[in-house]
Amino acid sequence: MHLNQTKLMSATQKELLGYKPNTAILPWGATEAHGQHLPYGADAIETTAFAEHSADLASQDGAKVIVLPTIPFGNNAQQLDQVAAIHFNSITTLSILEDVTDSLIRQDIDRLIILNAHGGNEFKPFVRDLMIDRDILIIVINFWQLIPEMQAKIFEESLDHADEMETSLLLYLCPDRVRMNDAGTGKRIPFQIEGLSQPGVWTPRPWTASHPDLGSGNPQKATREKGEQYFHAVCEAIKNIILNISTAKKGDLPYI
Ligand SMILES: [Zn+2]
Repeated sequence: MHLNQTKLMSATQKELLGYKPNTAILPWGATEAHGQHLPYGADAIETTAFAEHSADLASQDGAKVIVLPTIPFGNNAQQLDQVAAIHFNSITTLSILEDVTDSLIRQDIDRLIILNAHGGNEFKPFVRDLMIDRDILIIVINFWQLIPEMQAKIFEESLDHADEMETSLLLYLCPDRVRMNDAGTGKRIPFQIEGLSQPGVWTPRPWTASHPDLGSGNPQKATREKGEQYFHAVCEAIKNIILNISTAKKGDLPYI
């Protein structure tokens, strides 16, 4: 089922005047190599599909939600040695969020869900700053963190990039863009400096040196069926969040 009024790129002014959305979803991806076998647009494809399907489900249950156009670029500072990977620096990201929120607030849309599909994207400091003097509730969803137990049941070897989970998702969403013959093993070379891989310590991976085939996690056991099962389970979780936010009343914490 496809609803026009839940997607800004399909809706007309007349449809939106009748629908009166109060919640927006901003899908946010990245454009970067995904192993040797998935398209650069993988994250954008995933977040768009999650947002559009979840919004349709939530709208059927009474949510007033609109999906904005997907931001296709993310933070890829550690992938700039690839071919045509595009990096958005943090100031660009903040500027986009300022412009989007300032526009939405004028149109009585005072709830924004950033639906993130790229591990290198960080939004927390921006959300804190934006909410100081803007009357808008901003929620960040990292889709891959939503249903960890179900994820562990469906997939055998998931890590975090072009892996079994992400490959299964794309085998379900756009099988014609997956080249399984080119898939590697997604092996990660561990850091050689001791102490940098323990909880509480972080530094970014120099991607090409850390991941020789540019994937992180073995995609070999990916299947379309796993992708379908996971996709719908994640959409169900996102739908519930959308519904709760869109039907919240002023005063319901943290919507104050
Ligand atoms: Zn990805």
